[in-house]
Amino acid sequence: QYKAEILAVGTELLLGQIANTNAQWISKQLALYGINVYNHVVVGDNLNRVASTFKQAHERSDIIIVTGGLGPTEDDLTREAFQAICNIPIVEHEPSMKKIEDWFKRTGWQMTPNNRRQARVFETATVLFNKKGMAPGMIVQYEERTWIFLPGVPREMKAMFKEDILPYLYKLTGKEQMIRSTILKFLGIGESALEHELQDLIREQTNPTIAPLATDDGIIIRLTAKADSEEGLDALLTEAKSAVLLKVGDYFVAENDETIEQIIIEHFKKKQLSIAAAESLTGGKFTDRLISVSGASEVVQGGVVCYSEAVKTGVLEVPEQVIAEKGTVSEACALSLARNVREKLQSSVGISFTGVAGPNEVEGKQVGTVYIGLSVIGEEDKAFGFQFQGDRNTIRNRTVMKGLELIFN
Ligand code: ATP
Ligand code: MG
Repeated sequence: QYKAEILAVGTELLLGQIANTNAQWISKQLALYGINVYNHVVVGDNLNRVASTFKQAHERSDIIIVTGGLGPTEDDLTREAFQAICNIPIVEHEPSMKKIEDWFKRTGWQMTPNNRRQARVFETATVLFNKKGMAPGMIVQYEERTWIFLPGVPREMKAMFKEDILPYLYKLTGKEQMIRSTILKFLGIGESALEHELQDLIREQTNPTIAPLATDDGIIIRLTAKADSEEGLDALLTEAKSAVLLKVGDYFVAENDETIEQIIIEHFKKKQLSIAAAESLTGGKFTDRLISVSGASEVVQGGVVCYSEAVKTGVLEVPEQVIAEKGTVSEACALSLARNVREKLQSSVGISFTGVAGPNEVEGKQVGTVYIGLSVIGEEDKAFGFQFQGDRNTIRNRTVMKGLELIFN
């Protein structure tokens, strides 16, 4: 099992002028290869401090990836710092030197002696050609450690990493671990409630890891397993999924690429039910999600975007008296909308959304106040009141998610 460490050289990182996105990006790549990263270190452009950081890394890690400090200026001293611990001679790399000279000839800029610095490499290094810039990268084997030096500029670093480093690591590690994630999607349970239900499992479980996450699409759980074969991954993920569903299976809806709306459309098809929606604050978002599923035509009759009061009373025939006494944002209005849209659009289920998306109050009702009406043929009409938090679009999205949840149940 290899231990990797990522070292970023640059005082601007320490000053907070730029974020260490190189380390983040490289870590993600290494995770795909099942290589564990144990440390991210940032060190300023100072010879002694860089050298002592290198020494520490050399003692504790097997693969050390360094970014930055390979450029032409005096503060680029990654090579000098490494030489201080390894004593490998530094030589000029002909092809890189030629590339630099050509560039200066082509552009007519004056080449200073400093620019030659970039073409210097360790004598024993595998030199990595820089397609997007000047300074070459290097792989150096030294005392059973693999040292990898990459430019600091993210686009140069990434190009080199994908082209040369990943294939190299693949060989080095013999692809010893594979990683796979499964996503489980839930409806009708909040993130904290879900986390509470699963807290022991989350704590004890290390392979796969279990991570709950709130997304625009509701709550998801990501299971991430590591194994050395596809069969191993299957077994670990299946077992963890069962353990999770044992606790919160009541709220489980879909897995991986399956969407919540796909599952809903399937349920409706099976039960031979159809649906129509009256959408005020959601403006058609709810119907849009259902219609995004191919085959929705067997289920979705249609919808009415009844944003204005005139459409609510005129087209969907909400009684004037309901509006006068309760307002458009009310249980009574939601009930009437749901029932009428169901009847007018000849569906077995009618659903309605009316509420205050914000930023201003409506009819003296607070931002986030939402009523959803549900009218199912042969059943009593129902309305549900909610108080959502967030900005206008967050409230609208939560309303849609709630609607999906209500028809899913
Ligand atoms: P150059 O040849 O451009 O001097 P270099 O290899 O010497 O490249 P640095 O001088 O350390 O690299 O960094 C060049 C630029 O790359 C920085 O100014 C910064 O914008 C970006 N950079 C460096 N390190 C990082 C990092 N860890 N994360 C994100 N960006 C970085
Ligand atoms: Mg530099």
